[in-house]
Amino acid sequence: MLVRRALKGEGSLSLTVFLRERGLLRIAARGAASGKVRFGGGTEPFVWGVFKYYRGRSGGLHLESVDVADDMLPLRKRPEALFMAVRWARRLLRHVPVELPADELLKVLYWSMRLLSNKDLPVELADWRFLYRWLKTQGLVPDLRKCALCGNLSERLAWSAEGLLCESCAPSAHETKPVFSATRLKFLEALARMDASTLEGLEKQEVLWEQRALFNQAARCLEGFLFEV
Ligand SMILES: [Zn+2]
Repeated sequence: MLVRRALKGEGSLSLTVFLRERGLLRIAARGAASGKVRFGGGTEPFVWGVFKYYRGRSGGLHLESVDVADDMLPLRKRPEALFMAVRWARRLLRHVPVELPADELLKVLYWSMRLLSNKDLPVELADWRFLYRWLKTQGLVPDLRKCALCGNLSERLAWSAEGLLCESCAPSAHETKPVFSATRLKFLEALARMDASTLEGLEKQEVLWEQRALFNQAARCLEGFLFEV
Protein backbone atom coordinates (compact mmCIF):
# COMPACT_ATOMS: atom_id res chain seq x y z
CA MET A 1 0.00 0.00 0.00
CA LEU A 2 1.16 3.49 -0.71
CA VAL A 3 1.22 5.17 2.70
CA ARG A 4 2.58 8.57 1.80
CA ARG A 5 3.88 10.53 -1.12
CA ALA A 6 5.92 13.71 -1.09
CA LEU A 7 7.24 15.96 -3.84
CA LYS A 8 10.97 15.55 -4.24
CA GLY A 9 11.86 18.19 -6.80
CA GLU A 10 12.48 17.85 -10.52
CA GLY A 11 9.05 16.36 -10.93
CA SER A 12 9.84 13.33 -8.81
CA LEU A 13 8.00 11.83 -5.87
CA SER A 14 9.26 10.20 -2.74
CA LEU A 15 6.93 7.34 -1.86
CA THR A 16 6.60 5.46 1.38
CA VAL A 17 5.12 2.05 0.69
CA PHE A 18 4.09 -0.75 3.02
CA LEU A 19 5.01 -4.04 1.37
CA ARG A 20 4.47 -7.68 2.17
CA GLU A 21 7.64 -9.36 3.46
CA ARG A 22 9.41 -5.99 3.42
CA GLY A 23 7.53 -3.59 5.68
CA LEU A 24 7.81 0.16 5.20
CA LEU A 25 10.16 1.27 2.42
CA ARG A 26 10.94 4.58 0.84
CA ILE A 27 11.02 4.49 -2.95
CA ALA A 28 11.70 7.32 -5.39
CA ALA A 29 9.42 7.69 -8.41
CA ARG A 30 11.25 9.68 -11.06
CA GLY A 31 9.18 11.94 -13.23
CA ALA A 32 5.96 10.87 -11.53
CA ALA A 33 4.97 14.44 -10.69
CA SER A 34 6.04 16.08 -13.93
CA GLY A 35 2.76 15.58 -15.72
CA LYS A 36 3.75 12.35 -17.42
CA VAL A 37 1.40 9.52 -16.67
CA ARG A 38 4.22 7.10 -16.20
CA PHE A 39 2.75 5.26 -13.25
CA GLY A 40 -0.93 5.95 -13.93
CA GLY A 41 -2.89 6.04 -10.69
CA GLY A 42 -0.20 3.94 -9.02
CA THR A 43 1.26 6.83 -7.07
CA GLU A 44 -2.00 7.91 -5.43
CA PRO A 45 -2.07 7.60 -1.65
CA PHE A 46 -3.76 4.44 -0.26
CA VAL A 47 -3.49 2.53 -3.53
CA TRP A 48 -2.92 -1.22 -3.12
CA GLY A 49 -0.99 -3.13 -5.74
CA VAL A 50 2.20 -4.79 -6.87
CA PHE A 51 5.10 -2.37 -6.66
CA LYS A 52 8.19 -3.22 -8.71
CA TYR A 53 11.37 -1.39 -7.88
CA TYR A 54 15.13 -1.63 -8.28
CA ARG A 55 18.15 -0.46 -6.38
CA GLY A 56 20.02 2.41 -8.04
CA ARG A 57 23.78 2.87 -8.15
CA SER A 58 23.70 5.20 -5.18
CA GLY A 59 21.84 2.58 -3.14
CA GLY A 60 18.41 4.21 -3.22
CA LEU A 61 15.28 2.41 -4.38
CA HIS A 62 13.51 3.44 -7.57
CA LEU A 63 10.02 2.63 -8.72
CA GLU A 64 9.79 0.68 -11.95
CA SER A 65 6.06 0.01 -12.19
CA VAL A 66 2.86 -0.29 -10.19
CA ASP A 67 0.19 -2.81 -10.97
CA VAL A 68 -2.87 -1.46 -9.14
CA ALA A 69 -4.99 -4.16 -7.50
CA ASP A 70 -7.35 -1.93 -5.48
CA ASP A 71 -7.41 1.83 -5.98
CA MET A 72 -9.58 2.41 -2.87
CA LEU A 73 -11.67 4.85 -4.88
CA PRO A 74 -14.72 4.59 -2.57
CA LEU A 75 -12.45 5.60 0.30
CA ARG A 76 -11.17 8.64 -1.53
CA LYS A 77 -14.73 9.65 -2.36
CA ARG A 78 -15.78 9.64 1.29
CA PRO A 79 -14.25 12.72 2.96
CA GLU A 80 -14.45 11.48 6.56
CA ALA A 81 -12.91 8.16 5.54
CA LEU A 82 -10.11 9.91 3.69
CA PHE A 83 -9.46 12.05 6.74
CA MET A 84 -9.26 8.94 8.91
CA ALA A 85 -6.98 7.15 6.42
CA VAL A 86 -4.58 10.11 6.56
CA ARG A 87 -4.57 9.73 10.33
CA TRP A 88 -3.86 5.99 10.02
CA ALA A 89 -1.01 6.71 7.62
CA ARG A 90 0.49 9.12 10.15
CA ARG A 91 0.23 6.47 12.88
CA LEU A 92 1.88 3.85 10.68
CA LEU A 93 4.76 6.18 9.85
CA ARG A 94 5.25 6.95 13.50
CA HIS A 95 4.89 3.48 15.02
CA VAL A 96 5.93 0.89 12.44
CA PRO A 97 9.71 0.43 12.22
CA VAL A 98 11.06 0.82 8.68
CA GLU A 99 12.27 -2.16 6.67
CA LEU A 100 10.82 -4.64 9.14
CA PRO A 101 8.18 -7.02 7.75
CA ALA A 102 4.75 -6.64 9.38
CA ASP A 103 2.53 -8.85 7.24
CA GLU A 104 -0.14 -9.40 9.89
CA LEU A 105 -0.60 -5.67 10.28
CA LEU A 106 -0.66 -5.20 6.52
CA LYS A 107 -3.53 -7.67 6.29
CA VAL A 108 -5.39 -5.96 9.13
CA LEU A 109 -4.84 -2.64 7.37
CA TYR A 110 -6.29 -3.83 4.09
CA TRP A 111 -9.57 -5.03 5.56
CA SER A 112 -9.77 -2.02 7.83
CA MET A 113 -9.50 0.26 4.81
CA ARG A 114 -12.24 -1.66 3.08
CA LEU A 115 -14.47 -1.10 6.10
CA LEU A 116 -13.50 2.55 6.16
CA SER A 117 -14.64 2.83 2.54
CA ASN A 118 -18.06 1.44 3.38
CA LYS A 119 -20.41 4.38 3.73
CA ASP A 120 -22.95 2.24 5.60
CA LEU A 121 -20.59 1.94 8.56
CA PRO A 122 -19.37 4.75 10.84
CA VAL A 123 -15.66 5.57 10.44
CA GLU A 124 -15.28 5.59 14.23
CA LEU A 125 -16.10 1.87 14.30
CA ALA A 126 -13.49 1.14 11.61
CA ASP A 127 -10.99 3.14 13.66
CA TRP A 128 -11.72 1.31 16.92
CA ARG A 129 -11.53 -2.08 15.20
CA PHE A 130 -8.33 -1.20 13.35
CA LEU A 131 -6.55 -0.11 16.52
CA TYR A 132 -7.75 -3.16 18.45
CA ARG A 133 -6.54 -5.52 15.72
CA TRP A 134 -3.27 -3.70 15.20
CA LEU A 135 -2.45 -4.02 18.91
CA LYS A 136 -3.58 -7.61 18.86
CA THR A 137 -0.94 -8.43 16.23
CA GLN A 138 1.58 -7.28 18.82
CA GLY A 139 -0.07 -9.03 21.75
CA LEU A 140 -0.71 -5.67 23.38
CA VAL A 141 -4.47 -5.53 23.44
CA PRO A 142 -5.79 -5.16 27.00
CA ASP A 143 -8.29 -7.60 28.50
CA LEU A 144 -11.65 -5.88 28.19
CA ARG A 145 -13.38 -8.09 30.75
CA LYS A 146 -11.14 -8.06 33.79
CA CYS A 147 -9.40 -5.60 36.02
CA ALA A 148 -5.72 -5.40 35.02
CA LEU A 149 -4.63 -5.40 38.68
CA CYS A 150 -6.81 -7.89 40.59
CA GLY A 151 -8.10 -9.91 37.62
CA ASN A 152 -11.71 -9.74 38.82
CA LEU A 153 -14.63 -9.36 36.47
CA SER A 154 -16.26 -6.04 37.10
CA GLU A 155 -19.47 -4.27 36.08
CA ARG A 156 -17.58 -1.03 35.62
CA LEU A 157 -13.96 -0.55 34.53
CA ALA A 158 -11.93 2.65 34.18
CA TRP A 159 -9.49 2.96 31.30
CA SER A 160 -6.11 4.06 32.61
CA ALA A 161 -2.49 3.92 31.46
CA GLU A 162 -2.17 0.52 33.19
CA GLY A 163 -5.21 -0.93 31.46
CA LEU A 164 -8.79 -1.36 32.65
CA LEU A 165 -9.18 -1.08 36.40
CA CYS A 166 -12.00 -1.92 38.81
CA GLU A 167 -13.28 0.56 41.35
CA SER A 168 -11.78 -1.21 44.40
CA CYS A 169 -8.29 -1.20 42.88
CA ALA A 170 -8.41 2.31 41.49
CA PRO A 171 -11.15 4.50 43.00
CA SER A 172 -9.47 7.68 41.76
CA ALA A 173 -9.30 6.41 38.16
CA HIS A 174 -13.08 5.96 38.35
CA GLU A 175 -13.39 9.67 38.97
CA THR A 176 -10.87 10.97 36.47
CA LYS A 177 -10.66 8.43 33.61
CA PRO A 178 -13.27 7.22 31.12
CA VAL A 179 -15.42 4.52 32.72
CA PHE A 180 -17.02 1.76 30.66
CA SER A 181 -19.71 -0.72 31.67
CA ALA A 182 -19.11 -4.44 31.16
CA THR A 183 -21.93 -4.50 28.58
CA ARG A 184 -20.34 -1.77 26.49
CA LEU A 185 -16.91 -3.39 26.65
CA LYS A 186 -18.41 -6.68 25.56
CA PHE A 187 -20.13 -4.94 22.65
CA LEU A 188 -16.87 -3.22 21.63
CA GLU A 189 -14.90 -6.44 21.82
CA ALA A 190 -17.43 -8.38 19.78
CA LEU A 191 -17.28 -5.79 16.98
CA ALA A 192 -13.48 -5.65 17.01
CA ARG A 193 -13.33 -9.43 16.63
CA MET A 194 -15.98 -9.67 13.93
CA ASP A 195 -14.57 -10.25 10.46
CA ALA A 196 -15.15 -7.57 7.85
CA SER A 197 -17.79 -9.37 5.79
CA THR A 198 -19.87 -10.27 8.86
CA LEU A 199 -19.73 -6.66 9.98
CA GLU A 200 -20.81 -5.43 6.55
CA GLY A 201 -23.67 -7.89 6.53
CA LEU A 202 -25.08 -6.90 9.91
CA GLU A 203 -28.74 -6.09 9.70
CA LYS A 204 -29.20 -3.46 12.38
CA GLN A 205 -26.52 -1.05 11.29
CA GLU A 206 -28.39 1.94 12.72
CA VAL A 207 -27.38 0.68 16.18
CA LEU A 208 -23.77 1.15 15.11
CA TRP A 209 -24.41 4.74 14.02
CA GLU A 210 -25.89 5.52 17.43
CA GLN A 211 -22.66 4.40 19.07
CA ARG A 212 -20.22 6.63 17.20
CA ALA A 213 -19.23 8.52 20.34
CA LEU A 214 -18.54 5.25 22.17
CA PHE A 215 -16.32 3.94 19.35
CA ASN A 216 -14.48 7.22 19.26
CA GLN A 217 -13.92 7.28 22.99
CA ALA A 218 -12.74 3.66 23.08
CA ALA A 219 -10.40 4.26 20.13
CA ARG A 220 -8.88 7.28 21.91
CA CYS A 221 -8.32 5.12 25.02
CA LEU A 222 -6.60 2.40 23.03
CA GLU A 223 -4.49 4.93 21.20
CA GLY A 224 -3.47 6.85 24.31
CA PHE A 225 -2.93 3.74 26.40
CA LEU A 226 -0.61 2.02 23.97
CA PHE A 227 0.97 4.59 21.73
CA GLU A 228 1.66 7.52 23.95
CA VAL A 229 3.40 5.59 26.70
ZN1 LIG B 1 -9.23 -4.65 40.50
